[in-house]
Amino acid sequence: MTVDKQNLLITGGGRGIGAAVARHAARRGWRVAVNYARDGQAADALVGEIEAGGGEAFAVRGDVGSEDDVLALFETVDGRFGRLHGLVNSAGIVAPRARLDEMDFARLERMMRVNVIGTMLCAREAVKRMSTRHGGSGGAIVNLSSVAASLGSPSEYVDYATSKGAVDTFTIGLARELAEEGIRVNAVRPGIIATDIHASGGQPDRIERMKGFVPMKREGSPDEIAWPILWLLSREASYTTGAILDVGGGR
Ligand code: NAP
Repeated sequence: MTVDKQNLLITGGGRGIGAAVARHAARRGWRVAVNYARDGQAADALVGEIEAGGGEAFAVRGDVGSEDDVLALFETVDGRFGRLHGLVNSAGIVAPRARLDEMDFARLERMMRVNVIGTMLCAREAVKRMSTRHGGSGGAIVNLSSVAASLGSPSEYVDYATSKGAVDTFTIGLARELAEEGIRVNAVRPGIIATDIHASGGQPDRIERMKGFVPMKREGSPDEIAWPILWLLSREASYTTGAILDVGGGR
């Protein structure tokens, strides 16, 4: 499944699922732009690891929830790559476990700004560069949704689940909007994956607590999410667009 040298931007690529995508993409011949928000050390270490393995990558900071940052991010990518062929929207956040009646406006706004508007802004900038309508040569976008979109995450984080429901709807609409412009748009819905996101959301024990509810009785690894993402980016998925793929061990 090797591709010719093509250029891929991964938002939230410094850690977790995005980092796994970056590693596998680089091995398969993609040039990789690794976006991060705050943890420059993790992103730099990942770039070093990719380069040591003979791949090409660079790290670039930018908050996907800020339009100025997103515009600057894409300008940096333009400068380094010239052309863009793929975007993986992996940047995403959760917040501490809460019921809706405990959530304040600031929390709701941040959740939607990063997970929904961030995904839409980055996709918008990618479309301007990849769509044949804008003189581009086509490409592929993969959005990170979550099984939470179908479960709703009651008493845990309905705000997060709602944001991922929006990502699903956006994926379907954008796929159809761009179907004749050389861009395929798909989403992956991970289940419970072993990354820092659970601790970041104040639940370091979440995997241990929840894995018994997964039909496979275990968490997934970031690699197990990266593999289907790499397939969706590849030519082998050339007739797949608007698909939302559950990768949750049966959950
Ligand atoms: P993670 O380990 O917490 O990593 C998140 C990455 O996103 C980090 O690189 C972080 O940057 C970056 N990020 C966060 N906010 C950002 C912002 N505003 N702008 C730019 N980058 C930002 O998370 P993960 O588990 O890999 O999750 C990746 C995606 O998969 C998310 O969309 C998440 O909702 C989804 N997902 C995860 C799971 C799971 O169980 N892990 C399940 C379902 C869906 P820094 O490194 O600079 O902090």
